[in-house]
Amino acid sequence: MPELPEVETTCRGIKPHIENNIISKVIVRNRNLRWPIPKGLNTKLKNHKIISVTRRAKYLLIETEAGTLIIHLGMSGSLRILATNEAVEKHDHFELQFENGICLRLRDPRRFGCVLWEKENPLEHKLLNHLGPEPLAKEFDAELLFQKSRKRKTSIKQFIMDAKIVVGVGNIYASESLFLAGIHPKRLAGKITRKNALDLTVAVKKILTQAIKQGGTTLKDFTSSNGKPGYFQQKLKVYDRKGEPCQKCKKPIKQIILGQRSTFYCSHCQK
Ligand SMILES: [Zn+2]
Repeated sequence: MPELPEVETTCRGIKPHIENNIISKVIVRNRNLRWPIPKGLNTKLKNHKIISVTRRAKYLLIETEAGTLIIHLGMSGSLRILATNEAVEKHDHFELQFENGICLRLRDPRRFGCVLWEKENPLEHKLLNHLGPEPLAKEFDAELLFQKSRKRKTSIKQFIMDAKIVVGVGNIYASESLFLAGIHPKRLAGKITRKNALDLTVAVKKILTQAIKQGGTTLKDFTSSNGKPGYFQQKLKVYDRKGEPCQKCKKPIKQIILGQRSTFYCSHCQK
């Protein structure tokens, strides 16, 4: 599943190709994504210029003078920049064609992604308006995490994965960040110390920054039709390493289920 680092890398990958480019046609081949792609997009967008390509949480925001397309890659979505005459494949459901002969094509075999339209401020859209800060923004710091965690009786792992607290900390990143911060995933959020909050915000930023950096090199090519915009092969320290020795203390990594998600940790290094 594309996580925040993949979406950020996608954003950076497509941006230079489509920003300031003028849309010549919008093609919807299959409207039935997670929510139906709205009708009339061709009329709305034709001859309009792309003003900016940005990301908020795992949503890509493609802003034009007429309004903004909000794209989510769901479980299996990917975007590519191709020549408009490049052969269309089975799961290519949506595309923006541009005056200079290229297109932005969305492929999504499982169709859990979405393409939505917002005429007004996209950050006020109902899918986005309740979201917590970006993990790499200054706003997400130890004090905010500490204050928000007070009196919370949920586990710290579920807390850090809550998009209302901070966006983009998926299941793998949560396990890895808690290991780096030395915090047991089952600790109650309300019981973490100021020091824990600092260690955890630093860990989250570090893990995500590494993943994005790696994405820049792993995700070679947005302009090839067969090159898979693959998911990053990050070096993981605990995730999916049940029974293997902890890299710090050599004791075996444990696995538990928390909030129905697999959770990996070292019972010796994480308290
Ligand atoms: Zn350990």
